[in-house]
Amino acid sequence: MAEANGSAPAVNGRAYQFIDHTFDVVVVGAGGAGLRAALGASEGGLKTACITKVFPTRSHTVAAQGGISAALGNMGEDDWRFHMYDTVKGSDWLGDQDAIEYLVRNAPAAVYELEHFGVPFSRTEEGKIYQRPFGGMTTHYGKGRAQRTCAAADRTGHAILHTLYGQSLRHACEFFIEYFAIDLIMEDGACVGVVALCMDDGTIHRFRAKKTILATGGYGRAYFSATSAHTCTGDGGGMVLRAGLPLQDMEFVQFHPTGIYGAGCLITEGARGEGGYLTNSEGERFMERYAPSAKDLASRDVVSRAMTMEIREGRGVGKLKDHIFIHLDHLDPALLHERLPGISESAKIFAGVDVTKEPIPVLPTVHYNMGGIPTNYHGEVLTKVHGDPDKIVPGLMAVGEAACVSVHGANRLGSNSLTDLVVFGRAAALRAVETIDKGEKQRELAANAGDAAMARFDRLRYANGSSSTAELRGRMQKVMQSNCAVFRTGDVLEEGHTLIHDVWQGASDIRVTDRSLVWNSDLIESLEFENLIVQAVVTMDSALNRQESRGAHAREDFPNRDDVNWMKHSLASIDADKKTVTLDDRPVHTYTMSNDIAYIEPKARVY
Ligand SMILES: Cc1cc2nc3c(=O)[nH]c(=O)nc-3n(C[C@H](O)[C@H](O)[C@H](O)COP(=O)(O)OP(=O)(O)OC[C@H]3O[C@@H](n4cnc5c(N)ncnc54)[C@H](O)[C@@H]3O)c2cc1C
Repeated sequence: MAEANGSAPAVNGRAYQFIDHTFDVVVVGAGGAGLRAALGASEGGLKTACITKVFPTRSHTVAAQGGISAALGNMGEDDWRFHMYDTVKGSDWLGDQDAIEYLVRNAPAAVYELEHFGVPFSRTEEGKIYQRPFGGMTTHYGKGRAQRTCAAADRTGHAILHTLYGQSLRHACEFFIEYFAIDLIMEDGACVGVVALCMDDGTIHRFRAKKTILATGGYGRAYFSATSAHTCTGDGGGMVLRAGLPLQDMEFVQFHPTGIYGAGCLITEGARGEGGYLTNSEGERFMERYAPSAKDLASRDVVSRAMTMEIREGRGVGKLKDHIFIHLDHLDPALLHERLPGISESAKIFAGVDVTKEPIPVLPTVHYNMGGIPTNYHGEVLTKVHGDPDKIVPGLMAVGEAACVSVHGANRLGSNSLTDLVVFGRAAALRAVETIDKGEKQRELAANAGDAAMARFDRLRYANGSSSTAELRGRMQKVMQSNCAVFRTGDVLEEGHTLIHDVWQGASDIRVTDRSLVWNSDLIESLEFENLIVQAVVTMDSALNRQESRGAHAREDFPNRDDVNWMKHSLASIDADKKTVTLDDRPVHTYTMSNDIAYIEPKARVY
């Protein structure tokens, strides 16, 4: 509840009145990760707020189709150790193996918890949770094919998000819906809360918290063609960079092989899991050449690159020979209706295709950000100080796609993100409950707390430059799409570096036309653009810096993985005023969480 009206900082002569709130925990974001964290914190007796810019069930998690991975073994043999091996291999040995062990060991319990919460999973004949095969998921360390991805038809994210929202309402968590978080409040290197705008009435709110948990999702919208929602603008990452903290492994951007050509909407990997396959203009099932064993279910980086090679070599389909087909037309229409109803509908609407009769035109499309805010497996945000790469930032936590734990390393396996959301959402809540002293009175905020955020906000609100936000955003998206895509070379990245830094510089000359505070979408999109552009810049710079190929980062000039020089996480931070980037690195955790499994030594990836 609002406590009192706070100070009224004057910015350029204009005053903004703060409405102050005090909570133990403030979660920013109400996607799968944010809701699981908020529900856990309030269940644990902490006074919890959840701030979200969209209504919780409109968060991008709602769009997740294919499923959530966990070694339940409902449809054949499985073991968390196999899941661990696949995830390490999928990450191309950039994932931290202690965090990966935490993920896969807790995955089955997380799925059963969702089941008990009420997620309507699809069922096997015996009534068990249905599991489908997904790319890169194997048994016996690469020998067999695992069926590990638990699905609610092809609407798994929808089912999970609605269930988690329902559950979170059972507890005392207070929701601040359609509130836009502007910036963190930092004092002496610690996070003490966040400033947010209530978009509905234009009031400004200052949240004081013992722990602030960022669960703001990915930044797919830095690119022109993305499967993610328009709201996926990486606001948490932007806030972290402005707070002077680093982001990690930003060069690793996952392209999903099957975005609908032209529209970008996703055709789930579950489509290939159910027997779908890709063909080129010669009607050839070309994945058999690139990945003789895993074929169409090789991991996403491998399939996206193979498709791009086919198109480049003139074997693309369509008039412009610039895309590929995915076939489902050989599958039983009853199966399509039962298991893939959502994508059948999307194909009809966005490509005009009846999947029972024709193939769907598809193209690799930006889908997921492996990089993000560095954390340990308790969700605590890390920074590197005086050579200590694991220094915890007091008061700040991050979960979900916004975070980089890092369990996905250089490439995420399909269906491992939903697992990441609920496992680490829960872990962060547990950590908050364990570390917060409920009785302890919070320090008063400094008199100027939040003023820096309001100065930036005010500058944008009255920005009167010569480029509209839409123009700047369009330039950024085109540069990222053409200079930081599936295949990269030093020259293309150098050019991209110049072009994206130009856009960043140009952002000082932004123009916002609407000066109001209520439902000002021009202003909100400008705040989002400021979050996107800094992440686009560090993505490009980190990609230029990494002189090897690993996972989703494929350099034609450095085609091999180089474990001697590059088995390390990239760190990138910015100076927001000078508009410069500083790059650094931190070691990959080459140890596991427990003695139950040994460190999995790097090997070449063979498919
Ligand atoms: C089309 C699609 C299909 C996918 N399918 C799968 C799948 O089958 N399996 C799988 O494992 N993964 C899948 N993924 C990936 C996975 O769905 C996402 O990584 C995951 O849902 C991200 O969840 P999140 O909780 O981190 O963030 P999101 O669900 O994106 O939620 C972000 C939240 O943060 C809030 N927020 C953001 N900025 C602000 C701000 N400034 N102020 C206040 N609130 C803010 C938003 O309101 C929202 O509530 C898919 C992704 C896409 C795009």
